[in-house]
Amino acid sequence: MTDHASTVDVVLVGGGIMSATLASMISVLEPTWTIEILERRDALAEESSNAWNNAGTGHAALCELNYTPERPDGSIDIAKAVTINEQFELSRELWHFLLTSGRLPEGFAFLSPTPHLTFVRGAENVDYLRRRADALRAHHLFAGLEFTDDPEVIRTWAPLLVEGRVGDEPIAATRAPEGTDVDFGALTRGLVDGVVARGATVRLEHEVRRLRQRRDGSWRLTVADRRWNASPRKRTIDARFVFIGAGGGALHLLQKSGIPEARGYGGFPISGQFLRTTNPDLVAQHQAKVYGKADVGSPPMSVPHLDTRVVDGQTALLFGPYAGWSMKFLKAGSPLDLIRSIRPGNLVPMLAVGLKNVDLVKYLISEVTATETRRLRTLRAFMPTAHPRDWELITAGQRVQVIKKHPTQGGVLEFGTELVTAQDGTIAGLLGASPGASTAVSTMVDLLERCFPTKVDGWRPQLREMMPSLGGSDWDDSFEREGMADDAQVGA
Ligand SMILES: Cc1cc2nc3c(=O)[nH]c(=O)nc-3n(C[C@H](O)[C@H](O)[C@H](O)COP(=O)(O)OP(=O)(O)OC[C@H]3O[C@@H](n4cnc5c(N)ncnc54)[C@H](O)[C@@H]3O)c2cc1C
Repeated sequence: MTDHASTVDVVLVGGGIMSATLASMISVLEPTWTIEILERRDALAEESSNAWNNAGTGHAALCELNYTPERPDGSIDIAKAVTINEQFELSRELWHFLLTSGRLPEGFAFLSPTPHLTFVRGAENVDYLRRRADALRAHHLFAGLEFTDDPEVIRTWAPLLVEGRVGDEPIAATRAPEGTDVDFGALTRGLVDGVVARGATVRLEHEVRRLRQRRDGSWRLTVADRRWNASPRKRTIDARFVFIGAGGGALHLLQKSGIPEARGYGGFPISGQFLRTTNPDLVAQHQAKVYGKADVGSPPMSVPHLDTRVVDGQTALLFGPYAGWSMKFLKAGSPLDLIRSIRPGNLVPMLAVGLKNVDLVKYLISEVTATETRRLRTLRAFMPTAHPRDWELITAGQRVQVIKKHPTQGGVLEFGTELVTAQDGTIAGLLGASPGASTAVSTMVDLLERCFPTKVDGWRPQLREMMPSLGGSDWDDSFEREGMADDAQVGA
């Protein structure tokens, strides 16, 4: 039996950081709008936004080498780094606004100041890091970046990187003291609590199965109630605006919506694992997020890093990620997810990507078959004294990298995020994974501009109050903001 609920203004599919962010913004901009969040799991933030399913790095380009590619002439391109840094600043501004305006509980803890370091080995990498630091420091956003190639200085920054290191291989590091570790799971729950306090509804164990646009432009969603005692088991909800913030589940739902803008997109799932230690002796010796350099030929999301994590008030160290292969699009998804996503419209891009990315496939096979010894070897390149007894292997969130049509190459694989919006602005969905949570606010500002063009003018003063750095003249003149899809080479 199907039950029908009344029309709501905004339905957000998925209870992760993206829906939580958008719901928070809309509930400030339009306090009278009805908002409903539908989540298939029995709790919020159980997929990628869960603290242990991602690395919790507040991506501000303070340590990630993939934001600063080297040009053929040897100079360093810092444009992407500047964009990411500005986007993370927007996130911080919104969080600050929500905290200071009482929309997040006073003293709510989800962000821990944690210096961001980059660590490299070998003369060539040391030279690159020095040039990169010089290029970044010339920009006021990175003026405080420190560089050293002195092991004794690195020892004072992060002793575990140096202790037990033998040989005379050159090493170098940069340090940005203003880095952060973010518990995106706690943040998601806090943001949703805030919007619920202001009248929004959350329905857990509610899975959106179908979406159909009605003649008046609104959307009818068919939703399965997965609770064991549900009655009725199905309901329909009508919504004037739908955001598909379903993470790995977004591709299927966008495809089901039938909007032409979703045609041609495919997904390439990559799973991941981290090593984690809670050994207090080790935890006490490392208070930083240290990003290294990805191996040649490996994808950007495989950049190894050794991180301080603060989750639920407890501190731990995390190392990884080790990539893996799974056909699922969500951690709690189905092995048929990949097969089910194949459509006539995305077959060519998917085949093209499969044929062209042999190196990636090889890399994934080598990661899947990696033994404990090999995983330890990777960790020891960072932390020479690492002992297996201290570390446990945990499964991270599932990423679905975006495959999209390309006019000459058939299809390309993207490592960024892609906001897909219908031309009439009644529905939008977010594909892809990186840099993800850190830049959720910037992505949602982009969404507001694209889906609510007639409203955004009126919202501008409020948006500026929420995020003062949006107030620049560029933003006044044009709402054209840089697309996240351009940030293809970003690691998380
Ligand atoms: C290994 C890894 C490391 C990462 N590290 C970082 C990092 O250090 N810093 C950073 O900023 N970002 C990082 N990211 C990216 C970041 O975690 C994601 O971009 C972000 O969490 C995505 O949020 P979301 O709300 O879109 O998706 P999710 O958090 O996955 O939420 C989507 C929700 O939708 C629900 N859902 C799916 N289908 C349906 C349906 N049909 N009906 C109802 N509900 C549905 C799911 O159950 C889920 O709860 C990392 C990601 C991974 C996988």
